[in-house]
Amino acid sequence: MKRIVVFSGAGISAESGIKTFRDSGGLWEQHNISEVATPEAWMQNPKLVLEFYNMRRRQVLEAEPNTAHKAIAALESHFEVHVITQNIDDLHERAGSSRVLHLHGEILKVRSTGNSNTTFDHRSDLALGDCCPEGYQLRPHVVWFGESVPNIPMASKIVSKADIFVVVGTSLNVYPAAGLAYAAPKHADIYVVDPSELNQTIRGKVIQIKAPATEGIPILARQFMEETSRIT
Ligand code: NAD
Repeated sequence: MKRIVVFSGAGISAESGIKTFRDSGGLWEQHNISEVATPEAWMQNPKLVLEFYNMRRRQVLEAEPNTAHKAIAALESHFEVHVITQNIDDLHERAGSSRVLHLHGEILKVRSTGNSNTTFDHRSDLALGDCCPEGYQLRPHVVWFGESVPNIPMASKIVSKADIFVVVGTSLNVYPAAGLAYAAPKHADIYVVDPSELNQTIRGKVIQIKAPATEGIPILARQFMEETSRIT
């Protein structure tokens, strides 16, 4: 089975109603990143940080996977599909994808500030004073700016074995995640689905589908399926 690796960013969830960094009117526009998504913000104003992520959690719970998430999940019938996402939502999982690696954490989980390996599923608002059984304050299980991204080595390994690499809905501005775009092997076919112009060069032959994810991904998925049925 050929291996398809999908590397997704905020753009794939935009049409599910979860705004990207750049969208106007979104949560990000109303907040300064350094005041809500950094370890310093957590030290200075944990209440504001929790409020910001409570809003993001509520937004994710209201959203539904779109046809792009679903088309990626459906590819599993013919391919070994791995999704590596910068998104903290669970829309790939809800669409049916079985191998999803989150680089920047998951908003529907919280973790202990005493032990970063202790995580819990969590779907309601989080408040100051909500603690793990050992008595440590709980925080959102997300990677803040300035924190390390522990899943990068595993993600690089997955991308390095891709036959087909699909980049969708990411501006490739946030490192180290954006560096994954360079980890695909030489023989891999690389596709980028994004309505905007690429502002990064990706090594190798790249085919850009300049369209929103809900148009571009189903087109690509049909193309991949047709190619396998011609071969078999
Ligand atoms: P970004 O906001 O920097 O870039 C979004 C990209 O998506 C842009 O290139 C834009 O042109 C493209 N885009 C917009 N609408 C699209 C659509 N309908 N279909 C396809 N592409 C579309 O986002 P990023 O590169 O993912 O930035 C990384 C950071 O954003 C991550 O840390 C991530 O955690 C965070 N983020 C996540 C979510 C989420 O979990 N859904 C939402 C906002 C931000």
